[in-house]
Amino acid sequence: MRNKTTDNCDTNASSLLTVDQARLRILDSAQVIKGYEKLAIRSSLGRVLDETVFSSINVPAYDNSAMDGYAISSSDIPDEGSTTLNLAGKSFAGKPFEGTLKSGQCIRIMTGAMIPDGADTIVMQEQVEIENEKIVISSCISKGDHVRCIGEDMKAGQAILQPGKQITASELGLIASLGIAEVRVKRKLRVAFFSTGDELCSVGELPEEGQIYDSNRYTLFGMLKRLDVEIIDMGVIPDIRDAIRDAFKTAASHADAVITSGGVSVGEADYVKETLDEMGQINFWKVAMKPGKPMAIGQLDGAAFFGVPGNPVSAMATFYQFVQPALKKMMGMEYKPHLKIKVPCLTPLNKSAGRLEYQRGRLMRDDTGQLVVESTGRQGSHLLTSMSHANCFIILPAESTGVNSGGLVDVEPFEGII
Ligand code: AMP
Ligand code: MG
Repeated sequence: MRNKTTDNCDTNASSLLTVDQARLRILDSAQVIKGYEKLAIRSSLGRVLDETVFSSINVPAYDNSAMDGYAISSSDIPDEGSTTLNLAGKSFAGKPFEGTLKSGQCIRIMTGAMIPDGADTIVMQEQVEIENEKIVISSCISKGDHVRCIGEDMKAGQAILQPGKQITASELGLIASLGIAEVRVKRKLRVAFFSTGDELCSVGELPEEGQIYDSNRYTLFGMLKRLDVEIIDMGVIPDIRDAIRDAFKTAASHADAVITSGGVSVGEADYVKETLDEMGQINFWKVAMKPGKPMAIGQLDGAAFFGVPGNPVSAMATFYQFVQPALKKMMGMEYKPHLKIKVPCLTPLNKSAGRLEYQRGRLMRDDTGQLVVESTGRQGSHLLTSMSHANCFIILPAESTGVNSGGLVDVEPFEGII
């Protein structure tokens, strides 16, 4: 028998889940996918590691010079004044000096070149006087100057990258510097999504009277694309019970996660949550946040289900606050809260106590160079321009009753995903 844990649906803010409670519950129930694949390093960009990457070598592989200059033995550094050393050869990157440095000698050396046997210190070329085949060095040199030591970056046998790490340009370079050609990454998460609503028409179709274009499938597509998941776009589904039931079945059989937009409030044509309740398991559906109070979260035939509200800003805000962290966990990534900073707000903000609000803001520097934020203006959850004009959310806690001009607010910059 299915285990149902439907929460009640009072509209009183105190009976709603807080944003933090809701996020914790969603993260708790999100399961990491099991599949993996081996990929050539370049193809692994953006993917999530599914193994520990060990270094089989030292990086750097040998002591080498951090400067263009001269390799010397620290025993030749004079206690005071200066001393003259004879030039005995050259060590270039990729073309090391083969012999051993003797006392009183120096070797011309370039950045990245091997430190010759017998040398332990590099003198920058700007610090020496050159006389024919000799150089003059002074006492202001210290043993070990400008030497990059073997294994300073990574040591042989050391664990360098842990499972769950998303591979960015730095990791590609790290893995390449270890000479590793292939890495094991999580398979791509499969995410199916569709919009619900009789009023929706898709781009390319002619809207009839009372119809609007479906924008949520585009904002969701954009945000999913940034997560590097496999996207299954199922289009628009009308507000008909059977159609929603069929779409649920198809989505759950193809995807690890199903996202729908619309149909989660208490309107007469809002069938999403009741269909989820009937076919799967619904966990809760009201969060004390604005925009985006009604949501449906649950399970559908082994797929995670996220029903975000239909209003375009609510759909984006709920995705960013709840769905994105859950999908990242499913992809095998470690949960990291979005970056938050406290800055003065230049515009007064209106708010009534009760729900936490994600208002849209523009984070910038003022004339003195200080970070400040201003509101993007009207904040209706149907105003998608408020998202487009913004580069951050201004977070106003549930109990806040607004902010005066100059008041400090928490700001969450859009981290490349919105
Ligand atoms: P609902 O959550 O279905 O009650 O929808 C709330 C509001 O969002 C209504 O004004 C809908 O017309 C609008 N809406 C729902 N789905 C979409 C969509 N995919 N794109 C744009 N607006 C939508
Ligand atoms: Mg609707």
